[in-house]
Amino acid sequence: MFEAADRIKTVKISASAAMTDRARELRAQGVKIISLSSGEPDFATPSHAIEAAHRAALAGDTKYPPQDGTKALKAAVQRKFKRDNQLDYELDEILIGNGGKQIIFDAIMATCNPGDEVVIPAPGWISYADMVMVAQATPVAAPCPENNQFKLRPEDLEAAITPQTKWLILNFPNNPTGAACSRAEMQDLADVLLRHPHVAVLTDDMYEHLIYDGFEFCTIAEVEPRLRERVLTVNGASKAYAMTGWRVGFCGGPKSLIALMNNMQGQATNGICTLAQAAAIAALDGPQDLLAERAEIYRGRRDFVVEQLKLAPGVLCHKPEGAFYVFPNIAGCIGRTSKGGRKIETDTDFVFALLQEQHVATVQGSAYGMSPYFRVSYATDMESLREGCRRIQEFCSGLR
Ligand code: PLP
Repeated sequence: MFEAADRIKTVKISASAAMTDRARELRAQGVKIISLSSGEPDFATPSHAIEAAHRAALAGDTKYPPQDGTKALKAAVQRKFKRDNQLDYELDEILIGNGGKQIIFDAIMATCNPGDEVVIPAPGWISYADMVMVAQATPVAAPCPENNQFKLRPEDLEAAITPQTKWLILNFPNNPTGAACSRAEMQDLADVLLRHPHVAVLTDDMYEHLIYDGFEFCTIAEVEPRLRERVLTVNGASKAYAMTGWRVGFCGGPKSLIALMNNMQGQATNGICTLAQAAAIAALDGPQDLLAERAEIYRGRRDFVVEQLKLAPGVLCHKPEGAFYVFPNIAGCIGRTSKGGRKIETDTDFVFALLQEQHVATVQGSAYGMSPYFRVSYATDMESLREGCRRIQEFCSGLR
């Protein structure tokens, strides 16, 4: 009786979801899977955030919140943008959403019409392109090649922009490559954008605090203040504070855009859980030293994983600046056959054979728009990383 509406006919179930389903089936059969596919921190939510939610519940903060976020959380976000990014936003330039994902959805849905184009660096988080398609607009990939450390080159950005371009999406540190941009690299991109005043910029800074070896995070509205009125700066509690389940995202941007997004958001939700908002205030205003402590742990894991994956025959592993992913090149494995007799023609074949034969879950590069690569998440304990890398080495050594 039900048929998909035109707006979601082109959106497929994501390849990474298919991988998760297969891993779940194997687990149900009693197979112990080493999961290197997760996009969330393995750390606990800080206890002061949990306590703040508890206190809020007991105090009766359990009624419908304002649709755009509580004033108290918006004020905490305002302080965060000032403290971490030297950005000044008024309270009516800030919106709270159910995760960064809803914020990005609000922005795309509230502003894109059929025929509009959204430039998305590739590889990139697959949801951007899917959301653009739900809005019946057109995603346009701008390549971030490995020989440029998976970063966006000004010339590739320039080539992707047309009169129809509505948005450029930036996400550095990046999912899936971990690449981050220096201030000089960001300025080069900003210079291109200054020449194209019709293009707005959505910067997804979700991995801001996951950056290593002293590499300095920067965000485009701060690097080039002349772009401020065209930039939506998106961030959230999920990755920084290990709060993926609380569903709190936020953004700062021009008042007119925030009003459109709030209108869109109001059609989907009556606001964000009050208790989660109370927890997010405590996380943003509370002690920040856990960010550096956890980043140091991630750095140690990254170094270990890069070293180990380099030892796997046919695998080349670039060492990225941030996030909790590496994106190894597996061109040297394509065209071979696994020990279990599986022909490896694509990165999808690679990750499914790796799951089937060595019980390690990862995600194929094609899910992020670049092949032949695969994404390994190191947001997991050292024991799993050690065993996972050992199994990947064994799998690759067995390719003939
Ligand atoms: N942006 C990127 C690049 C992500 O990788 C993710 C989650 O995986 C999100 C946004 C969504 O974050 P949230 O949990 O705040 O919705």
